[in-house]
Amino acid sequence: MKPLTLLVKPAAGLCNISCRYCFYKEACKTRENRIMTDNAVDRLILKIKQYQPSALTVMFQGGEPTLAGHEFFESFVLKIKSNLNCQTSFALQTNGVLLDDRFARFFWENGFLVGISLDGNRQTNDRYRLDKEGKSTFEKTLNAISLLKKYKVEFNILSVIDDENAKDIESSYAFLKRQGLRFLQFIPCVEGENGVSLSLRAYESFLKKSFDLWYDDYVKGDYVSIRHIDNYLGILLGNPPENCAMCGVCGSYFVVEANGDLYPCDFYCTEEHKLGSIFDENPFEINVKQKAFTDESLLIHEHCSGCKYYMLCRGGCKRDRTNGFTENRFCEAYKSFFDYAAQRMLMIARSL
Ligand code: SF4
Ligand code: SF4
Ligand code: SF4
Repeated sequence: MKPLTLLVKPAAGLCNISCRYCFYKEACKTRENRIMTDNAVDRLILKIKQYQPSALTVMFQGGEPTLAGHEFFESFVLKIKSNLNCQTSFALQTNGVLLDDRFARFFWENGFLVGISLDGNRQTNDRYRLDKEGKSTFEKTLNAISLLKKYKVEFNILSVIDDENAKDIESSYAFLKRQGLRFLQFIPCVEGENGVSLSLRAYESFLKKSFDLWYDDYVKGDYVSIRHIDNYLGILLGNPPENCAMCGVCGSYFVVEANGDLYPCDFYCTEEHKLGSIFDENPFEINVKQKAFTDESLLIHEHCSGCKYYMLCRGGCKRDRTNGFTENRFCEAYKSFFDYAAQRMLMIARSL
């Protein structure tokens, strides 16, 4: 028996806002986007049950998953709990716009870990995270955070880093801390036709500045969790990274689209990478396509195999790699960051 991790998209690519850097909007624009049907939910649960996972993690994502409505989630969780005996955990990533008391209470009752997308203060967040009429979503997101606090739901903040947001990292970090937000994760933007980009130097600068902010607080006894730094410390302590993009290998989860189609990664939900469907006989068995997807991530460039930081970096996320998935476009940023911060991370890891 093996654990099973599913990233479920109950509302497909549908979203109630229109962030400029949204890559999923692009991926879904030629598809029919509909809320997952009861039939698809029942089929998914049947196939999970037949797979008999030792543990199950279900992460709801979008588009905007809350568009599927309260009843969808209430029924989904009830069906999972009444059909499966294994340990199950739930997470959900949201822009927060539709969060209300009913959602927040439900998340608390069912132990959801909620990720709220917020790039920083009003000015930073309004740069890209606007609604379909071009209006700010900032207040609605802060309102969602207040609800999660009120119901004591476990949550973290997800911020996207591009050239512009990287410049604002000091003010964003200070703002997030002032709001009492201490579980943070930062992800590089996906570059595309949206005109949003992240240069090597901007990323390098972000990595160093965010580390300094974190470090200064850490030595004062004011710990803030920043996911990529926590993962580096974990690696130095001998633990495997929990962040897929830092494992050096793909293939740890399945994306389940609303229509039941399966993909190997949120960044690769394209026809070319479709693995199958929950309507297949054995959807979670590793097939040739998934094996090929995983194998690609194991190709190591000679730069990486001879790199003194390989254990920390592992070549980075495959989506950032070029040249047959062997060269990471941020390699120089990582090297320079490790030169800058590895000793301090090692010192902290030794003290833990
Ligand atoms: S909230 Fe998420 S899914 Fe919606 S537009 Fe923004 S990035 Fe895309
Ligand atoms: S491409 Fe990156 S995020 Fe996707 S499975 Fe591979 S390492 Fe994980
Ligand atoms: S820092 Fe560069 S060379 Fe070293 S492991 Fe990372 S990507 Fe490879």
